[in-house]
Amino acid sequence: MKTLKSMRLHIGIFGKTNAGKSSFLNKITNQEVSIVSEVEGTTTDVVEKSMELLPIGPVNFLDTAGINDKTKLASERIEKTKKILNRTDVGVIICDYKGIDKYEIELIENFKELDIPYIVVINKTDIQGVGDNVLNHIREYTENIILTSTKTDNELVFKFKKALLKILPEDYVNSPLIVGDLVKEKSVVIMVVPIDKEAPKGRIILPQVQTLRDLLDNNCLTLVVKDTELEKALNTLKEPPALVITDSQAFKKVSEIVPQNIPLTSFSILFARLKGDLNAFIQGAKAIDNLQDGDKVLILESCTHHAIDDDIGRVKIPNLLKKKTGKNLIIENISGHDFPDISGYKLIIHCGACMTNRKEVLSRIILSNKAGVPITNYGIAISYCLGILDRAVSKLINH
Ligand code: SF4
Repeated sequence: MKTLKSMRLHIGIFGKTNAGKSSFLNKITNQEVSIVSEVEGTTTDVVEKSMELLPIGPVNFLDTAGINDKTKLASERIEKTKKILNRTDVGVIICDYKGIDKYEIELIENFKELDIPYIVVINKTDIQGVGDNVLNHIREYTENIILTSTKTDNELVFKFKKALLKILPEDYVNSPLIVGDLVKEKSVVIMVVPIDKEAPKGRIILPQVQTLRDLLDNNCLTLVVKDTELEKALNTLKEPPALVITDSQAFKKVSEIVPQNIPLTSFSILFARLKGDLNAFIQGAKAIDNLQDGDKVLILESCTHHAIDDDIGRVKIPNLLKKKTGKNLIIENISGHDFPDISGYKLIIHCGACMTNRKEVLSRIILSNKAGVPITNYGIAISYCLGILDRAVSKLINH
């Protein structure tokens, strides 16, 4: 139960109001997670529930508001429901014995666009049997169908797990490692963690903790130092380390200290691979060279952290871009799960996404590609601006 939400399989529950989404989720989780009511549109917002769904593993259910909501706050609720698509690893559409129509078909189109595998659950079969015409219509979209009544079906959990196992994303079955596959067991790795104004008091940030844990899981010998002690650490070792991983903000200084024969990367680049698409981000960074005076660049962050004076997204990256391009750029910052209107931007630079799941970043890459806007991430953009991208990604590309 202590698995981070960002590492869980996100299962979105979609469907019309009163199709039985909440009672489906309650049956699966065996708890009153959502309010179940016969009044249309009770679930006013997205209800999240994390659980261990054995043998699948840690999951996070997203119980959405009805997609065809006709009630007062309809448009706001539909918007919220659609935004959940970007975080959805697996979609579950709940309908009743009448089957699916334009609402569910629109959802399926959205699933296809974002490459989301899905299941259709036909509920309320205790009220009326399901006709062949209904089944055949759904089969035009998927064979992964569950017939059930959440009121009477004691096999529902079993049926759901079976259907889920058929479509589990490859990433979830074989979770990518942060760094463990890049270095041999027992290798020495140095993590450079600058303690500056951005470092939270009394602790180190999540990507660094996760990287350290991954190295420990892979039986590596890890040395954690500040940038100011890096040179001494390197001189203390009898043999060069297999890898040096630095915070992106100290990239320039660290790259000057670490000899060229020692592989070097950053936490942000490791997370670009773990939480996104490394190649897409590398390609995206090349758009920095094409930026012109007056072009708009979007700095997109997955969470609303408290920005400090020389914040990476608000100060450091804008300064680097200005220095690299010599142009007067319009740089805007947006934080949170919502994917904004990106028309008009010439480049998106995404944060390391430590607080969100991989699917959200992949969805953002898909939507950016569709809109023709290049997208890269913090670590890749910083190392590109500093002229050290090739070195920073070579260990990841050539391993
Ligand atoms: S999700 Fe993004 S903005 Fe939030 S802490 Fe992680 S890297 Fe920073």
